[in-house]
Amino acid sequence: MYKKTLEINGEKEAEIFEVHSMMIQDEDYRLSILNIIENEKYNCEYAVYKASKKFHEMFLGLEDEYMRNRASDVKDICFSILKYLTSEADEKKEETQIDSKVIIFSDDLMPSEVSSADKNLISGYILSGGSDCSHAAILARLSNIPMVVGIGDHIKPEYEGMDVAIDSGEGKVYISPDTDTVKMLKEKEKFDNLKGKENVTLDGYKINIYANINNDSQIDEVLESDADGIGLFRSEFLYLNRDSYPTEDEQFAVYKKIAERMCGNKVIIRTLDIGSDKSEAYFEFPKEINPAMGYRGVRVCLDRPEILITQLRAIYRASNYGNISIMFPMVISEMEVKTLKTMAAKVREDLKKENIPFSEDVEIGIMVETPAAVLISDILASEVDFFSIGTNDLTQYTLAIDRQNSKVNQFFDSHHKAILRMIKLVVDNAHKHGIWVGICGEMASDETLTEAFLTIGVDELSMPSSCILKVRKKVLETNVGKVKNKILKKFF
Ligand code: PEP
Ligand code: MG
Repeated sequence: MYKKTLEINGEKEAEIFEVHSMMIQDEDYRLSILNIIENEKYNCEYAVYKASKKFHEMFLGLEDEYMRNRASDVKDICFSILKYLTSEADEKKEETQIDSKVIIFSDDLMPSEVSSADKNLISGYILSGGSDCSHAAILARLSNIPMVVGIGDHIKPEYEGMDVAIDSGEGKVYISPDTDTVKMLKEKEKFDNLKGKENVTLDGYKINIYANINNDSQIDEVLESDADGIGLFRSEFLYLNRDSYPTEDEQFAVYKKIAERMCGNKVIIRTLDIGSDKSEAYFEFPKEINPAMGYRGVRVCLDRPEILITQLRAIYRASNYGNISIMFPMVISEMEVKTLKTMAAKVREDLKKENIPFSEDVEIGIMVETPAAVLISDILASEVDFFSIGTNDLTQYTLAIDRQNSKVNQFFDSHHKAILRMIKLVVDNAHKHGIWVGICGEMASDETLTEAFLTIGVDELSMPSSCILKVRKKVLETNVGKVKNKILKKFF
């Protein structure tokens, strides 16, 4: 399956069968089959079936969503082995003839069924069971075939042969849709066609496009937008609209849910950026004349370390369930970064002592959103794994224009050469030190700047989910080689 899929569909799709191959070689699985043959005296085929059933049920009972989704992989492996044992593999099976495009409805699908299906004949899948994180769903997404999962018993046998439309982003199925619905869906499809596509320019430059979120209820939109990951989770929203600090367990539950739902894609959690425009009474902040330049971001966390320690513990615990990174806001000095890293190291040490699992691969990055951080970005780059440029605050601090003050709104110009030159300096310094750099301020979604960001080598753009496909379109249409000189002359 691996070789076949590699040839036809490429490495990304084939990877799933590499995982299957590892699962087949799993010692416990093999011993379980052998044990049934040797001790229970069943034949080989039944032993494979019985052992697989046990593993299938075991995976289904697991708490971790990712692992639970591996149950259908076990089923797939079992059928593949049985096919060979019963020499069905060589037999030409009677196949249902399909002569026009169809939407397949099924209880669940195995990865091999999705990968071996003729993509020219299938417009979509509707599953009564299944999940977004299953390998079948991942394969469908990679082939750009919409799939709606978990529809339960809403699909009835009498619908067979009827016209059906599906909106996989919204998870909706329309039976015999009227002309207005079809028109609306066709309109949506224009951008939907870009889903599953890599963000790569005409001349081969790649960029990651991630989503910004404020809370876990926005994950549906992120998944619908086909973002490559979450580039900015403004975690301070967890602390707002309440009258006490969120506990470690409360935070852990949210971070874990986000990590799991993102199915191994990057989730960058920005630590508490409270103060300035965002605050609650229980923080008991002093009254300030100029809060944007005051007690905010990491300044609060360095001054009240217990708040950050609680948050870091929750983040590290959640890192065991996905691909989480940590990002610190409002940094101005090397000393701050060193202290924050020491705090993170202490949290890891404590969790180890308490035998609490966490991932060893959590990247630590900082937001570059103060002119100070820009100008020492060469020094800061050797301290962290990545930079994310916060152009909202960077514009505010560089142009000395309060981003909250509508009176000076007309002067708030993030296309100002000073900002673009700063971004270039940060990108150059980051790359010199071998780290990646993104932009997570509002500028990231400004299509009129996409060519400039690609030209100077920005590695990632993080933006509201609603803008992702429009920026992807711009990336796909850009030829960096052709626009380079024009861009350099215009902005730098
Ligand atoms: C920024 O400053 O650009 C940023 C992304 O952070 P926030 O808007 O939350 O201050
Ligand atoms: Mg900011």
